[in-house]
Amino acid sequence: MEFFSEIIGETVILGIDSLILGFCLKQLSKCKHILNTLQTAPVLDIDATLNKEINKYPNNTIPFVVIRGLVKPLGNPITSNYNNSVTGVIQRLTIKEHVIARTSAGFWSDQTRTIHEVCNSTPFVLNNGKYSIEVVDALAAELLDMDVISDKFEPMSPGVIDHVWGFFSGVRQRGLQTMEEMLRDGSYITAIGELSRSNTGALKIQPPKDGLPLYLTTATKSSILKRLASSRDFLRVLLVVFGSVAAAASCRIVYKYLKRRRRRELEENMKRQLAVGRRERRAHAREKNLSEVQLCVVCAENPKEIILMPCGHVCICEDCSDHITDNCPICREKIDSRAPAFIT
Ligand SMILES: [Zn+2]
Ligand SMILES: [Zn+2]
Repeated sequence: MEFFSEIIGETVILGIDSLILGFCLKQLSKCKHILNTLQTAPVLDIDATLNKEINKYPNNTIPFVVIRGLVKPLGNPITSNYNNSVTGVIQRLTIKEHVIARTSAGFWSDQTRTIHEVCNSTPFVLNNGKYSIEVVDALAAELLDMDVISDKFEPMSPGVIDHVWGFFSGVRQRGLQTMEEMLRDGSYITAIGELSRSNTGALKIQPPKDGLPLYLTTATKSSILKRLASSRDFLRVLLVVFGSVAAAASCRIVYKYLKRRRRRELEENMKRQLAVGRRERRAHAREKNLSEVQLCVVCAENPKEIILMPCGHVCICEDCSDHITDNCPICREKIDSRAPAFIT
């Protein structure tokens, strides 16, 4: 417990660091998994050859595939709230609050908080001529590239009270940002996910199993691969950094432990030397030529010097008393206390 209080700083650092390390490791393995699978994922066109391609896979399902096509709504498209001429299949409305907040270091910094977010979607397909693939569960996509239709910032003009309040609370309002993003119909996108064909022959692409993501993006396969590779490299750097912190904290704990053990050993040594000195001094002071009844029953060398309580036996010398802790050597009664006995 005493040692723990010495290393509490290192332990806290090590604990937080291990959490971050664990998170980075998990992200890295996920990133590598996606990268490796995507590298070998087939890139297919939406045309007559698609069905033949699907036939090669069990259960008419290709686990991870890259497909490009035009976004086309199955029913009525969603119309933009800000621009009537814009229609799409996924709409995201976000309201963000911009504030200037005082940091713990004392200076003010810009911060943004999302205070409201709404997503709407309508069923849609990726289309190429007369062939199309339905995109299922598009909102679950890990990467969803949309066009910004409207982005407005309304600044707030603070009054005197707001300024005073801001000074004490450490948060000053700057304004509200409202943003509308849409996946517009007619946009040409890349969908990366699990492609399957139902018994009725309908094709659909959806979020894959096995920890792989669904991507709906304007980027190509090669640029997605590049992005993944750079985040993998970044995660590796993080691992090295946080790994070194963990190693340093562990080394410090080990160092403190060894230092403490060394100190303990020195103290023990000192105690032993003092005890030896005490015994020697006692030996000098003792009477010689004692009769057998006067001798300690344990070592039979020194005189009887200690009375054991509560049994009252005077049977051992002071040296032997140091080693006998539990019971009286004569009657086996438990020793509660002991005191020097003077026999004259
Ligand atoms: Zn003795
Ligand atoms: Zn006794």
